[in-house]
Amino acid sequence: MVSTPVYMDNHATTRVDPRVVDAMLPILSEHYGNPSSTSHVFGWDSREAVDKAREQVASALGASRREIVFTSGATESNNLAIRGVARRMQREGKHLVSVVSEHKAVLDPLARLGREGFEITLLPVAQQTESCPGQIDLQKLEDAIRDETTLVSVMMANNETGVLQMIDQVGRICKERGVLLHSDATQAVGRVRVDVEELQVDLLSFSAHKFYGPKGVGGLYIRRRNPLVRLEPLVNGGGHEQGRRSGTLNAPGIVGMATALDLAVEEMVDETVRIGGLRDRLFEGIEAELERIQLNGPPLGEDRLPGNLNISFQDVDGEALMMSMRDLAVASGSACTSVDPEPSHVLRAIGLNDDQTRASLRFGLGRFNTAEEVEFAIRQVCGAVERLRRMRP
Ligand code: PMP
Repeated sequence: MVSTPVYMDNHATTRVDPRVVDAMLPILSEHYGNPSSTSHVFGWDSREAVDKAREQVASALGASRREIVFTSGATESNNLAIRGVARRMQREGKHLVSVVSEHKAVLDPLARLGREGFEITLLPVAQQTESCPGQIDLQKLEDAIRDETTLVSVMMANNETGVLQMIDQVGRICKERGVLLHSDATQAVGRVRVDVEELQVDLLSFSAHKFYGPKGVGGLYIRRRNPLVRLEPLVNGGGHEQGRRSGTLNAPGIVGMATALDLAVEEMVDETVRIGGLRDRLFEGIEAELERIQLNGPPLGEDRLPGNLNISFQDVDGEALMMSMRDLAVASGSACTSVDPEPSHVLRAIGLNDDQTRASLRFGLGRFNTAEEVEFAIRQVCGAVERLRRMRP
């Protein structure tokens, strides 16, 4: 028996792993000092916990301790990276390059810079009819970089279609051209291997609640060597995080995030196989029963996050479909990106029309999903689609 409701929206957020809760509890209840309090043992204990967590996070990403700035999550990290670098480097140039299918937490700060007089180039992505829908064309990236370009921002994994960009190659191009590279790796960290040296990125955003850690805590990797990246802080105050992000550190959140990341890295190989298998079965099951469906995004393989599935069901409204499956939590369009229910800009970017976009569902499988839940989801989806199609005039 499957216990309902079943959660399959792990791109929006994930359940906190009980092992992460266990690691956080003592920091909430016993070692609750302010890590910046230097005059007593409460502060020292909490500082020790944060230092250890910083070391864990840095080493999981192939970075060093002083290259990690803790933030409230990826939205803040993206803002700090993009607005912080653009403003700090504006004397060198005011041109930035990114991609049409980025998360709003990248596009919105870019749009704001655009209004402040920066020039923004957004690269297109491969269409649904091409071999790897959603990926950027590296030649177009090369062509877009100019003398005045200071920063390129390309996400590592897309939150809707799961497409993985070839960040190592993007990194190589940016290095050759002497341009800084930021990557929004929110959906990638903890799910696929991320090493800042291998990828040659200069800034990288991540968020704990996407890898079974708590909400409201994340971080930004900021390179200190080859080159030393400088940025203007967004939040000024007590000078925490080497002046790059003021505010009392969220010690329980940071400890939770470090624990969650360690677990994710440790279990990544097994989890990729298991979650990928569940996702493949989900697609197979739906495909075997329903006609007129389309897989959105890249093929189910190495260019896609293992837990991601995005399907359009012809002649069905995604919203109505979701509503008729109250016991299955999935997303239509991109529920986690914004508060407005506009058709997804990511699906539009790969060439879907508004009907196909509205008729789409995004499944995000994760650590706590089981094979039984997948069978349940297949029955729910197929039953609901058939019902809705029968009801159409
Ligand atoms: N970038 C991407 C790719 C995301 O998926 C999300 C969350 N949906 C964010 C940024 C924002 O992250 P946070 O919720 O931590 O601010």
